[in-house]
Amino acid sequence: MIEIQNVSKWYGSFQVLADCTTTVKKGEVVVVCGPSGSGKSTLIKTVNALEPIQQGDIRIDGQSLTAPGVNLPRLRSRVGMVFQHFELFPHLDVMQNLTLAQMKVLGRGPDEARQRGLSMLDRVGLSVHKDKFPGQLSGGQQQRVAIARALCMDPIVMLFDEPTSALDPEMVGEVLDVMVQLAQEGMTMMCVTHEMGFAKKVSHRVLFMDGGRIVEDCTQDAFFGDPAARSARARDFLSKIL
Ligand code: ATP
Ligand code: MG
Repeated sequence: MIEIQNVSKWYGSFQVLADCTTTVKKGEVVVVCGPSGSGKSTLIKTVNALEPIQQGDIRIDGQSLTAPGVNLPRLRSRVGMVFQHFELFPHLDVMQNLTLAQMKVLGRGPDEARQRGLSMLDRVGLSVHKDKFPGQLSGGQQQRVAIARALCMDPIVMLFDEPTSALDPEMVGEVLDVMVQLAQEGMTMMCVTHEMGFAKKVSHRVLFMDGGRIVEDCTQDAFFGDPAARSARARDFLSKIL
């Protein structure tokens, strides 16, 4: 589904990703963790071609992001992305936020887009708020709208970059609940998060990054259950967050 092969990336002379290789299979939930500045956000952005890479290759469903003539907007529309800050359009109401890209990118008509929007809004439990503006919603509600917006595009994979870390603690649960539900329905997911409860509950694999490298890539059982087999850096990280 997602193949990341020997990916390296530099900002000027600073190497932010160093020879990263991993594969996310269909239906797999992979949690990406690691210290601040280790390259987690950059890695996840390269998967959506929001950040170019200088070496290596990334394939989504067999289609290389770096192939000449690749239709990036189209490919990107199939890869849902949810960020730390919700990035809803503040001047559009919830329904408009949910329908805009469906119409512009997928060419759906207003009725179809609205139907799809309503059904995804229902899925995240926010149907009653369809006419509100983002500023009238709590952070947790905004993040659930952001997830619904991504789902409206029929993504084949969902990428999350610390979707709960900007939320007040009492709102973290409602967003994680939606993510758990998605995972249990078989969505392919790559999630940067330090919510280790979520990782333990639904992830199949854990990637641990440090200094731009994927230092650990193992099953969650091994990651959490077999600390002796982990790198010193991962052990140190785990001891601080668990
Ligand atoms: P955090 O946990 O704080 O979100 P992260 O693991 O997501 O960290 P990245 O945001 O991927 O880390 O950043 C990795 C490194 O690349 C950091 O040292 C950061 O300062 C650097 N970096 C990120 N974006 C840029 C940029 N646009 N130009 C130059 N350096 C950058
Ligand atoms: Mg980050």
